[in-house]
Amino acid sequence: MNIVLFGPPAAGKGTQAKIITKERGLLQLSTGDMLRAAKSSGSELGKKVAGIMDRGDLVSDEIVIALIEEQLDTHKDAPGFIFDGFPRTVAQAEALDKSLSSRGMAVDAVIRLCVDDAVLVDRIENRFKEEGRKDDNPESFKIRLGNYNEQTAPLLPFYEAQGKLSEVDGLASIEAVSASVAKVLNELSVSGGGNKPSFWKRLFGRS
Ligand code: ADP
Repeated sequence: MNIVLFGPPAAGKGTQAKIITKERGLLQLSTGDMLRAAKSSGSELGKKVAGIMDRGDLVSDEIVIALIEEQLDTHKDAPGFIFDGFPRTVAQAEALDKSLSSRGMAVDAVIRLCVDDAVLVDRIENRFKEEGRKDDNPESFKIRLGNYNEQTAPLLPFYEAQGKLSEVDGLASIEAVSASVAKVLNELSVSGGGNKPSFWKRLFGRS
């Protein structure tokens, strides 16, 4: 089962991804975490993306797509993936569909964490005080939110058209959000979203 966690910065995608990993063993693929790791390792890639990230802008599609493909190939035996912070543009979503389908997989569900901007601003102010992440400063955050609205929100109709979009209330408590997410995933397991083709599909090419 492969799922995309969708929502603006600070919607709680990372928190929910970790809970799903713990409960279901799916592997969390966070492009933000991968890029931050590159940044702190001081690698060539890290140097290239540091300024872009600190300012709150998006890293190029080529870079993040390559990072994701590398992970898909490294973890061939994973029972499924949770994409967190990826895709963020329509080009990334199209590339993800292609990468998965060439490996016999697909995005099974997209779960949108619905939150409102005022709450995001409060959350980010707190996180900036507590963790000091450079891109949580008010200026960068404004840019991140603008990029979300302009480049990432158009993915909603993209996934809606594929019939894959579910929405949960991201303003509720962490436990309540994860219960809503679990409900979506349970319904999906019943309807058979999985990475291994079913017996019938393997035998006859259909489920
Ligand atoms: P948040 O969800 O809190 O905005 P992330 O950890 O997902 O933070 O991302 C941090 C930064 O990393 C982004 O602002 C952007 O610069 C870069 N980044 C992460 N994922 C992507 C992506 N899929 N495409 C382009 N840039 C990305």
